[in-house]
Amino acid sequence: MHSEQTESSGNFFKDILSHQILQSPAGWFQRIAFSGLQDARDIEAQRLVLLTNLYCVVGVFFLGFFSFRSLISDRWELGLVLAGCGLLAFGNILYLRFSGNYQRAGDAVVVAVSALCFYLLATGGVENTGPLWSYTLPPLVLFIYGLSKGGLVLAGFMLASLGLMHIPDNGLLIADYSFSFKTRYSSTFLVVCFISSICEYARFHSYGVLKKLQQRVQREAHTDELTGLSNRRYMYEQINRELRKIQRYDRPYSLMLCDLDHFKAINDEYGHPCGDKVLMDVALRMENSLRGEDTVARWGGEEFLILLPETEEEEAVLAAEKLLKAVSDSPIHCGHQSLSVTMSIGVAQIHMECAIETILRKVDDAMYEAKRNGRNRIEVHRF
Ligand code: GH3
Ligand code: MG
Ligand code: MG
Repeated sequence: MHSEQTESSGNFFKDILSHQILQSPAGWFQRIAFSGLQDARDIEAQRLVLLTNLYCVVGVFFLGFFSFRSLISDRWELGLVLAGCGLLAFGNILYLRFSGNYQRAGDAVVVAVSALCFYLLATGGVENTGPLWSYTLPPLVLFIYGLSKGGLVLAGFMLASLGLMHIPDNGLLIADYSFSFKTRYSSTFLVVCFISSICEYARFHSYGVLKKLQQRVQREAHTDELTGLSNRRYMYEQINRELRKIQRYDRPYSLMLCDLDHFKAINDEYGHPCGDKVLMDVALRMENSLRGEDTVARWGGEEFLILLPETEEEEAVLAAEKLLKAVSDSPIHCGHQSLSVTMSIGVAQIHMECAIETILRKVDDAMYEAKRNGRNRIEVHRF
């Protein structure tokens, strides 16, 4: 049987590369390509880190090679400029690795490559082939800066190169280009800009669709379908977060378990759809009477668990009284029926490290005590 363990690193690009392209000997390459990821939280930022590193690594090799060739052919100025840019690319990899500042590292790549292309255009490079390198600029700038900012930078480069080649005696143009070459160079550069823009637009659009889809899936995974409240899975995550906060900052929080009284009778007497309507109305009333930072979750059929961060027992009891009133003060309408609904609430303040199962059992015990003591009331569990 074929069994392959694939473990996600949490990094989109790293996962793709490590599992499909670069299985092992090129591990060093991966290490360079993904260094500096510390501040890159989303896919877009991770893409920038990867691109910046890749451009720099490729830059180091190409610039090193061409610099060496220029130096051994006695083209000292060109050789030194290329060697300087190669060193800059190398420095940029280190800068990104240690600072994690991918935006500034991206700026450095764009500025350095634009300046180098302009220099090669002005001097002609080796036998007037220098302008060919400008074609690397549009994809690079657009991939790093995106359509609007990248488009502006490219427009600036285009204007500067037009001025350089077409304004006579400007003092910057050293190479001698024919008129046909200049016009063809400018038009082909424009075409490359256009094609790169289409690629960037398509990429950005797909990324937007993917992001929306991801957000929707995440929202649905956390939401109860009937009431629109948080679901059990999300509540577990929140309670665990509070537990970590307690370990670190020693801040108490409270939990409330609310269970509708004699809810089965509502279903039996008025039908399931009416029961559903009651659940939806109760959920709405609960949300409206709590603070924004509290989490209300549908815990089970007609049970709701509420997490009140940074809340001590006294405040939690006040909130529970408010909830009790919000639900029972006015009847819930279902068709022509007006239904009086009440609930029983168990409250527990959590102020120490404790297993999540223990906490839930305590608040459940308190709620059952409220049931035993006559329903439509609040009971507090004390640790
Ligand atoms: P108690 O006061 O002791 O809590 O009595 P109860 O009738 O509320 O409790 P019991 O646990 O006997 O009944 C809960 C009922 O909730 C049974 C179940 O059919 C109903 N229920 C659970 N989920 C849903 C739902 O999504 N919609 C509807 N309409 N009813 C549900
Ligand atoms: Mg129940
Ligand atoms: Mg009940």
